[in-house]
Amino acid sequence: MAGIMLQKWLQDQLDGLRSNGLYNEIDPLQGANGPTIRISGRTFVNLSSNNYLGLATDSRLIDAAIAATRQYGAGAGAVRTINGTLELHAELERKLAAFKHTESAIAYQSGFNCNMAAISAVVDGGDAILSDELNHASIIDGCRLSRATIIRYRHSDMDDLRAKAMEARASGKYAKIMVITDGVFSMDGDIAKLPDIAAIADEFELITYVDDAHGSGVLGGGAGTVKHFGLSERIDLQIGTLSKAIGVVGGYVAGSKLLIDWLKVRSRPFLFSTAQPPGPVASCIAAIDILSSSEELQAAMWARADYLKRGLKALGFDIGRSETPITPVMIGDESLTQTFSRELYEAGVYAKGIVFPTVPKGAGRIRNMPTAAHTESMLDEALSAYERIGRKLGVI
Ligand code: PMP
Repeated sequence: MAGIMLQKWLQDQLDGLRSNGLYNEIDPLQGANGPTIRISGRTFVNLSSNNYLGLATDSRLIDAAIAATRQYGAGAGAVRTINGTLELHAELERKLAAFKHTESAIAYQSGFNCNMAAISAVVDGGDAILSDELNHASIIDGCRLSRATIIRYRHSDMDDLRAKAMEARASGKYAKIMVITDGVFSMDGDIAKLPDIAAIADEFELITYVDDAHGSGVLGGGAGTVKHFGLSERIDLQIGTLSKAIGVVGGYVAGSKLLIDWLKVRSRPFLFSTAQPPGPVASCIAAIDILSSSEELQAAMWARADYLKRGLKALGFDIGRSETPITPVMIGDESLTQTFSRELYEAGVYAKGIVFPTVPKGAGRIRNMPTAAHTESMLDEALSAYERIGRKLGVI
């Protein structure tokens, strides 16, 4: 009986999502997630991956994964604190610390896991967190898990942050207060105002936490948003992912030696979830080596991003407040956004529409992710589809 009740509830929920156009159909790729992709036998220009530098398909990363898999096996065999820590994990962590200009670093199975791990390891029920209202879902979940009091401030509104920090400090209710922000906001591509956040943190003695999933490998010569602003010594916790610019999978926290020593004994995904497999870890090491020795890929990525942005703006599209390769084309209405995205798909351009609840109601947009691996002719193909569909649907 209970089984039937669950089935009925699930059916109702899914029907509701489908009838509101909110059910996300997943299209499996027939091959790599590169600048072009194949789905159902058709080839598309791919503007939806986070593979900023094209490293996901780089032969140096693939060769490193194959060699490490042969040497160490397919899996790490245990959690990091039992005997799942391989020399490879230690090497990756040393290289990440050097790459991020911090004393130390710790790697996790994903960026999502990092936020589950790190937030609740440093704050708890007696503390407060000041969190930007547009922070990523994994930050929101990590904050909830910590049981700290969550105080949201308006997106990048430094007056609001300052007022709320002052009030929280004056209340005398909290032992520790932490401010958390994305380094680069994933739906708009704008950069957090880290110098102002650091100044407010100094004034009210806040712990500072920056999730730089979209800034690492992209800003600051690759080291990320914190380095971009010259704040490497000042930010307490820098979170990164190994799944976007680095092109593989995994996440990390970079910071002081004391912080990392603490996370190694207190952060639950490190203690209770099996270590990253050898192959991907070796690929990540290869990627960090590449990024540490040359800025060629970043330069190519910025050139392609500028090309796409200039093209879209020249056509009359609104790309919002983007300051990074993340390029939203603002549409507004949810169903118009989905129609636009479907028409792009028909034209051979894969660019997902992003609508409520991922972004606020009425703020639908198509999110474009140009990468180092795109050629100008691929982007020209996308731009001509944008032009034709934009005119047809009255967006430009
Ligand atoms: N933080 C932010 C800001 C992100 O955009 C993402 C990726 N969607 C994550 C964390 C999670 O990273 P991962 O995909 O490595 O789990």
